[in-house]
Amino acid sequence: MTRQIPTDLQDYPFDLLVIGAGINGAGIARDAAMRGLKVLLLDKGDISAGTTQWATRLIHGGLRYLEYYEVHLVRESLAEREKLLQIAPHLVKPLRFVVPIYERSKRGPGLIRLGMIGYDTLSFDKSVPNHKMLSREEALERYPGLNPDGLLGAATYYDGQVEYAERIAVENAISAHEHGAIVLTYAEVERLLFEEGGDGSLPHVSGVEFEDRLGGGTYTARARVTVNVAGPWVDRVLSGAGSFGIDDAPEGESSDREQMIGGTKGSHIIVDPFPGAPRDALYVEARKDGRPYFIVPWNGRYLIGTTDFRYKDDLDYVSADDDEISYLIDETNAVIPQANLTPESVLFTYSGVRPLPFKPEGSESSITRSHVVYDHATGKSAAGGRLTVEGAGPRTEGLLSIVGGKLTTYRNLARQTVDVAYRKLGREAPPSRTDKVPLPGGAVQDFAAFAADFKVTSGLTDELAERLLKLYGARAPEVLELAGDEASLRLPLSPAPTVETGVIGAEILYAFRREMAQTLADALLRRTMVGLGPRVGLDVDEAAAGVAARYLGWSEERAEREVQDYRKYVERYRPRDFREKEPAGV
Ligand SMILES: Cc1cc2nc3c(=O)[nH]c(=O)nc-3n(C[C@H](O)[C@H](O)[C@H](O)COP(=O)(O)OP(=O)(O)OC[C@H]3O[C@@H](n4cnc5c(N)ncnc54)[C@H](O)[C@@H]3O)c2cc1C
Repeated sequence: MTRQIPTDLQDYPFDLLVIGAGINGAGIARDAAMRGLKVLLLDKGDISAGTTQWATRLIHGGLRYLEYYEVHLVRESLAEREKLLQIAPHLVKPLRFVVPIYERSKRGPGLIRLGMIGYDTLSFDKSVPNHKMLSREEALERYPGLNPDGLLGAATYYDGQVEYAERIAVENAISAHEHGAIVLTYAEVERLLFEEGGDGSLPHVSGVEFEDRLGGGTYTARARVTVNVAGPWVDRVLSGAGSFGIDDAPEGESSDREQMIGGTKGSHIIVDPFPGAPRDALYVEARKDGRPYFIVPWNGRYLIGTTDFRYKDDLDYVSADDDEISYLIDETNAVIPQANLTPESVLFTYSGVRPLPFKPEGSESSITRSHVVYDHATGKSAAGGRLTVEGAGPRTEGLLSIVGGKLTTYRNLARQTVDVAYRKLGREAPPSRTDKVPLPGGAVQDFAAFAADFKVTSGLTDELAERLLKLYGARAPEVLELAGDEASLRLPLSPAPTVETGVIGAEILYAFRREMAQTLADALLRRTMVGLGPRVGLDVDEAAAGVAARYLGWSEERAEREVQDYRKYVERYRPRDFREKEPAGV
């Protein structure tokens, strides 16, 4: 699927222009295209290369939000969890969590039990089991690695996990495209275009000017409604309103008065399975500051996170600090003493910035995680949760901005946004179908039967067949079709293939030909997911570029450049391969 920008794009009569192809933008584009709108989806980088790829990857109700009485958000998230389990069974799976309760815990057994009952009540229509309270003995029997010192007992409950959040966004974008949307990655919006309102009415956003970051050149696209769903960059996109004299902030920034987003940074560490590691996900209260954090079995390893700090630095390069890494290591060793993690145990890290509503004071944990579909014409929320951004941003018609929004609630956020877009277009909205129509990889009646059949007929080892099913679901056979008679394309590129690392040559072709990958980093980190293996793909990057050179016509020079660019990009993960070369510190 070679990306081409139509030369007459400025003449296309788009109904909806979506800025940002994270989970929310991709979800909006899919819902809108499925309901018959003419949609353009733009991203300055790859699909899901913003906050979406930096999440803890839980599809969860958010037990801790109950502490802030965000009952509506918890109910919304739990209902969405159930829907995602149905529409993306290959990507979203139930996961059991355990909450150990200690004498020193801020949240004692009574409070935890109350929270669990609330969680079960709010997910009355769920397909996963209810919670269970465990005595100290039961907890230690089931989770022998837990620190017994002061342990009072534990609670277990179920939530969801999407190991490859990136792929949910990718599948939404693919589905949007299949329903007629134009999807352009590496298309950076530089300016919002305005038309005078006349007769004292508000100016109207009529489209955008964007730069093609691959081929160069500036393009114009017009639409009746524009949605700014640029995650932590929402304010930066709005600074393009400065050209209309609406915002008095310097170029590239917006003033505090106008600020909508107040991003907070969260970091994770990834380690190999360790002594005492729990077979379920641990949800633990940190000893240092009482914040809850997760130790999650993920991608054959353990994902531990996260931190939560207000963040004002470079949004395009976010990396874990030594302090954050030490915090996560210390807390894990405290709850599982045999773990004995050290900085050397860390395979890699990753960090992102949550696009939360601007709230300059108070604890980061207390900032709401619910979203707002903000209408710049009224200066108010047109849909979504609590109104925390009233009066922010420029006043104009034809423009919506999304503030907040979790992975978990993306589908509902998209539905609400498209409903609002239809209202703005003055047309009656057909009902959204995204709660029933599976994502492309989930589009099979009986997934278990399909998977069993694929394992028998694919001719792959069980491990590789399982890998393709886990990533591509119902589309796994399409990946193999691209191998044709070329046996080498069915072989893993990695010297030590596992479900997580055994990428085969055909997947590289699939990423570029069918899944809109444009660069090696897109293919490794956000399509084949092999970039999230223990060596962040440094063991397969050259082989993958070799496949592209042989079958996609890359020149030798391009293949080399792509590998160099990839290695530069993954520096932010602080992979062990690179840290060994660092002079000091972690
Ligand atoms: C540490 C951490 C842990 C989290 N864990 C969870 C979790 O476990 N579960 C959960 O439900 N949620 C979680 N979240 C929240 C969730 O990841 C985000 O809220 C969600 O991914 C936001 O998606 P988005 O599409 O709104 O933004 P993004 O994914 O940031 O997408 C915005 C897109 O806009 C693009 N863009 C920016 N500027 C421009 C421009 N000028 N032109 C064109 N495109 C532009 C960017 O390139 C980007 O791709 C977590 C977040 C963080 C940071």
